[in-house]
Amino acid sequence: MRTGDDVDTRTLAVTHPGEPGYQAATSVFNLAAPPEPAAAAVVRTVREIRDAIRFAEEEGLSVRVLTTGHAAPAALPMHDALLLRPEMDGAVEVDPRRRIARVPAGTKWGAVARAAAPYGLAVAHGSSPTVGVVGYLLGGGLSFYGRRTGLAANSVRAVELVTADGEPRRVDESSDPELFWALRGGGGGFGVVTAVEVDLFPAVKVVTGAACWPAAHAPRLLRIWRRWTLEAPAEAATSVRVLNLPRLPEVPPALSAGPILSVDGAVLAETADDVATAERYAEELLGPLRSVAEPVFDTWQTTAPVSVLDTHMDPADPVAVLGDHMLLDEFGDEGVDELLRVIGAGSGSPLIAAGLRQLGGAYAVPHPKGGALDHLSAPYAYSGGGVPGLTGTAEAITRHIGTVRAALAPWDTGRTVPTFVETHTQPQGHLSVEQVAAVDRVRERVDPAGMFRGDIMPSATALR
Ligand SMILES: Cc1cc2nc3c(=O)[nH]c(=O)nc-3n(C[C@H](O)[C@H](O)[C@H](O)COP(=O)(O)OP(=O)(O)OC[C@H]3O[C@@H](n4cnc5c(N)ncnc54)[C@H](O)[C@@H]3O)c2cc1C
Repeated sequence: MRTGDDVDTRTLAVTHPGEPGYQAATSVFNLAAPPEPAAAAVVRTVREIRDAIRFAEEEGLSVRVLTTGHAAPAALPMHDALLLRPEMDGAVEVDPRRRIARVPAGTKWGAVARAAAPYGLAVAHGSSPTVGVVGYLLGGGLSFYGRRTGLAANSVRAVELVTADGEPRRVDESSDPELFWALRGGGGGFGVVTAVEVDLFPAVKVVTGAACWPAAHAPRLLRIWRRWTLEAPAEAATSVRVLNLPRLPEVPPALSAGPILSVDGAVLAETADDVATAERYAEELLGPLRSVAEPVFDTWQTTAPVSVLDTHMDPADPVAVLGDHMLLDEFGDEGVDELLRVIGAGSGSPLIAAGLRQLGGAYAVPHPKGGALDHLSAPYAYSGGGVPGLTGTAEAITRHIGTVRAALAPWDTGRTVPTFVETHTQPQGHLSVEQVAAVDRVRERVDPAGMFRGDIMPSATALR
């Protein structure tokens, strides 16, 4: 271990390439872009973070932060940086009366959803229980509850962080409104977040699951789904994807027999009185789809809200994914045809999963107390990716990503949601020129020397 002169050597363990602990401190969920920082440390207390910042200053390093590395390929290279991995002490604390949870940095969404559930409360988590709370919330956050609750970033009530001066701050709309605004969607680079307070909402039941058909049925199914999205209730949010799943023991054989179309999502019932309505809403989508053909796999059911953590069937273990993302305008049946031409049956797509998240509803509504990113006006989010060596070579996947991008270009808004941007080579587009300038003014105030500048998502680019 190397430390600066007056660094607390009792607790802070900084590791360098080749040293014990470096591999663990730099491990990431998306293996496509392993970070290679000059040094790395797991930090558990504010004191350790403060010491780490001083260590970086003394060593002439910048400071970078990752929680799980789900978004590792979206982070800029960090060769001249000290990488911090917050695993802050403490547990998720739920205040059922105020309907707020305080979540220490390092926590993953599964833990928050499970802590809220005994109180009949849910949280705007994403599709995977293993995604980190902090990166997801700072980058917007698309949830299967989002058409009802809006972007997850809007549910943040306070952010606790250590800024470049080593000071711990609790930032909310009254203590520092500019920094609170910039933190939520402003692109990162403000400091090390140590905890967040996030809104919970009532949820007694959900109707949730995934239904899958051979992709040959996709042209009819996707047309029905698209028409349903135009009038869908806000309680419902879904995704449609073409999946090319490998034959693995953990994959049901019906899902690896060839390309399949999956329709998954959730319909929220906030109270016991809402359950019958939620079931009717689900049936209005699923009935017409099931009448096209019997699904080969169908898990939709009325169940406990924590089940939404498993609905999307995301990978549980680290995997290398090369992916892409666009926010799309309404595309009509012509867009359905074009999308399926490049990812559907017979397309030869090497993408393991590619498709659309349904937006609209509360996603489209600016939030009166929102941050730099508080709504998305586009109706659909495209994302797709492949696993090199499993679904094709890296070259074939990258080439096909370009093919899909060209096919969808007529409907590409040029905008993005930060949590879905898969590579730092893709300019993010979610801030106006004025917002970029305003966010930079906040950074200049809290980090005048630019210690965290490398941690800015490449998002500080103006909308086209
Ligand atoms: C399987 C899978 C499913 C997903 N599902 C969804 C989904 O349903 N909805 C959705 O919106 N997104 C989803 N995502 C994307 C995910 O939300 C982003 O990758 C998000 O950035 C993950 O946050 P993290 O903290 O785990 O990631 P990391 O890669 O660790 O962090 C991402 C960025 O957040 C910042 N950051 C993280 N922690 C801190 C901290 N403590 N202090 C300061 N900055 C920090 C850093 O700038 C970092 O570069 C999914 C990703 C995967 C791989």
